[in-house]
Amino acid sequence: MAIENELKKILEDEGSSVVSLCRELVKRPSEDPPGDTRNIAGFIHDHFRKNGVESEIVAPHPEKPNVVATVHGGKPGPHVVFNGHMDTFPVGELTRWKYDPFGGILVDGRLYGRGAADMKGGLSACIHAVVLLNKIKANLPGKVSITCVSDEEVFGPWGTKYLLANNAALHGDALINGEPSSLENIRIGEKGQYWFRFTCHTEGGHGAYAALKQSAIYTMFNLLENLSNLPQELSEISEPVHQMMEAARTNYDSLLCEGATDAALSASMNIGTIKGGLSVNMVPECCVAEVDFRLPPGVPGNKLRNWISTNVSSFANCKYEEYDTQDAYLTNPGHSLAQIACLSAEEITGKKVFPTFSLGGTEARMWRKLGVPAITYGPNHHNMGSPDEYIIAKELITVLWVHSLTAFRFMNSGLDY
Ligand SMILES: [Zn+2]
Repeated sequence: MAIENELKKILEDEGSSVVSLCRELVKRPSEDPPGDTRNIAGFIHDHFRKNGVESEIVAPHPEKPNVVATVHGGKPGPHVVFNGHMDTFPVGELTRWKYDPFGGILVDGRLYGRGAADMKGGLSACIHAVVLLNKIKANLPGKVSITCVSDEEVFGPWGTKYLLANNAALHGDALINGEPSSLENIRIGEKGQYWFRFTCHTEGGHGAYAALKQSAIYTMFNLLENLSNLPQELSEISEPVHQMMEAARTNYDSLLCEGATDAALSASMNIGTIKGGLSVNMVPECCVAEVDFRLPPGVPGNKLRNWISTNVSSFANCKYEEYDTQDAYLTNPGHSLAQIACLSAEEITGKKVFPTFSLGGTEARMWRKLGVPAITYGPNHHNMGSPDEYIIAKELITVLWVHSLTAFRFMNSGLDY
């Protein structure tokens, strides 16, 4: 316990500087698109080196570098990896912002700026945790790494995807990601995402002959309507996962929105784009729709594929392709990483903390796919992706404590300390 107390003392003395670190990150624009992260990556790389942490820039794409830093503990033990992305959504219409999106402005305890919530806040907590753990490295069993990545907002190949494919050492034994989750939620998984493109072709013709011709738009309309009656089997999840989400229901719904728990537990379908027809006075001969299906963890993607194949086969002039899939993965809520994170968060917040899975995805899924347990813990987000995005600054300090203690305790979990 002596070393843990030493870490807590360091956190008490130096924890609050995570806020100024976050402000520095916000001051370095990294909108994606275009996704040029050289400035912020250079700053983070220098920050690690100034603090005595081994750091390197890994840049498979010259404008989209990644920063990989490592702390080698003085004793053998597990390898904990932190992960966060440096790129952000674009600012959009500047006149809609009250506060400068790149000012790193702090007003009434709120830290404003593009990316403050997604995810320069959580990223600063990860970075600072690594810097502080470095101070006790002689007594640290194992290794701590961090991957500060580019190319996340556009699902590109040059960030996490590249690092995990080219450096197996970064798979580690446990992953801590800092995307916004709220202080009372440890995210241990996410829904699966399946994107399909449907195309209907008909003969088309003159609009005056509408009753005599087949319309590609009407055909698509009928196909999509059939597909939208998603069968119950696409929402059948295991009892333990169901119970886990039910336990969090009140908190989860108040945090996200009313109905969020039901949405998490159910398959969903969103028609994202639809294009068809050439002119108002013509019967359309082609219609294309892009559809985003989401499945809760544990529901096999092939059940959805069967549903789609059966439906499309009854429309002779329609076809489909699946063009992007991210299967759902869930870290076992009973895994020591998830348990240590929940208990640490309860200790620091003084509140009940729930393991849950998220509606949207994070790159933590890439570690889960490799069989590595992964959690996401970050501050609550406000106006994410909108003007005047912000976080509550002091939540960053809580996140830092939970990240640091979770990493430390996981590293020590196999040892008598
Ligand atoms: Zn994000």
